[in-house]
Amino acid sequence: MDFNYTKEQKMIADSARDIAKKFGPEYWYEKEENQSYPIEFYEALAKAEILGLGIPEEYGGSGMGLTEMVIAMDELCASGGGVAPALIILIGTTFGAISILKHGNEEQKKKYLPLITSGKMRTALGLTEPDAGTNTLDISTFAEPDGDDYVINGNKIFITGVADAGVLILVTRTTSRQDSAKPSQGLSLFIVDLPNDAVKASSIPKHGINYIKTYDLGIDNLRVPKEALLGELGKGWYHILDTLNPERIICAVGAVGGGRLAVTTASKYANERVVFGKPIGTNQGVQFPLAEAYAKLECAKLALLKAAVLYDNNENSKLVGDISNIAKFAGVEAGIEATYHAMQAFGGSGYAKEYHVERWFREVQLMRLAPITQQMTLNYIGEHILGMPKSY
Ligand SMILES: Cc1cc2nc3c(=O)[nH]c(=O)nc-3n(C[C@H](O)[C@H](O)[C@H](O)COP(=O)(O)OP(=O)(O)OC[C@H]3O[C@@H](n4cnc5c(N)ncnc54)[C@H](O)[C@@H]3O)c2cc1C
Repeated sequence: MDFNYTKEQKMIADSARDIAKKFGPEYWYEKEENQSYPIEFYEALAKAEILGLGIPEEYGGSGMGLTEMVIAMDELCASGGGVAPALIILIGTTFGAISILKHGNEEQKKKYLPLITSGKMRTALGLTEPDAGTNTLDISTFAEPDGDDYVINGNKIFITGVADAGVLILVTRTTSRQDSAKPSQGLSLFIVDLPNDAVKASSIPKHGINYIKTYDLGIDNLRVPKEALLGELGKGWYHILDTLNPERIICAVGAVGGGRLAVTTASKYANERVVFGKPIGTNQGVQFPLAEAYAKLECAKLALLKAAVLYDNNENSKLVGDISNIAKFAGVEAGIEATYHAMQAFGGSGYAKEYHVERWFREVQLMRLAPITQQMTLNYIGEHILGMPKSY
């Protein structure tokens, strides 16, 4: 067991830190206020070859792994970006790239992965549906074979980044739930090239993270060729499971890295802000919550790195699932606690947008809900690790 970063990993962390300093809190403040996509940041990530860290070189990546992605994202978030960098990479790159890498045929990998890793094409994932919610197996978007094509109809909700994406990984049913031998069978994934007039997106106003928009999606007679099928027909649920652990890990890195930025920023403020004739950080009521939050963030980061290393080493998937859920739960709780205490340390200024901490607090709340809710990670731990009965 070696807790030191390799020389290459240190270089990745340094490069990510440099980018984070160029795209610091003021940059994200402006993007959030103007609700505009952080394209300059995304291009800088592509140029520094961060987008393709986990993709093999033959498809335009750097041939490293999720561990290096975690290291880069942690620095991007903790050194200036807050929660944003992890989300931007997760949505624009990872959803699509991992699905295509794991389950695409050679032609699909050659067509899409170099475009994604070079930042020329962004991806989106269309999974959630209004009437299914957390019960994903209840989705009803249906792909019907028609000659050499499939014709797809249905509705999706909360699909992030889809209006600007070049490709949508769409989760459908190709056999209804009733007609499938098991509920987890009969789902299929499609790679949908965008824009397409049959896919109508309308933006959902939301609590934060407005520099990347989230949409309701109406899919009306969308015709895709049979070659757009990703992986095996009817095995979509098992394919999508492969991307769930990396998603959990990356999403929690945003909470942990963003939490660290909040705590370090609040600690600096606590040294500078003088009330009752002394810096407010002198008071243990201010100092201890920040110290405790920092300790919890570091523990969660260890769990995240462990999950990423196990994933990269292809350790048995149960172990990766266990630690990914634990790390997601612990990381998000630590991030929420950290931004809460950071905001409190700022007093009234914590409520003012110019100090950024209120934005980080708002942003981290999303991690409680997506890509999996905190309750569902607890369901996993209770059921699959502690062996208690399934509650649903
Ligand atoms: C800003 C944003 C961006 C998103 N981006 C995407 C995206 O790009 N692509 C995509 O496909 N989806 C996306 N999502 C969807 C997200 O993954 C879902 O919102 C999430 O999975 C929860 O589903 P739901 O909202 O339908 O909640 P529901 O299923 O309605 O659940 C409501 C509450 O009940 C709880 N609950 C339900 N069942 C149980 C149970 N058995 N035990 C305990 N608690 C339970 C849930 O944990 C939750 O707290 C996004 C969501 C948001 C808010």
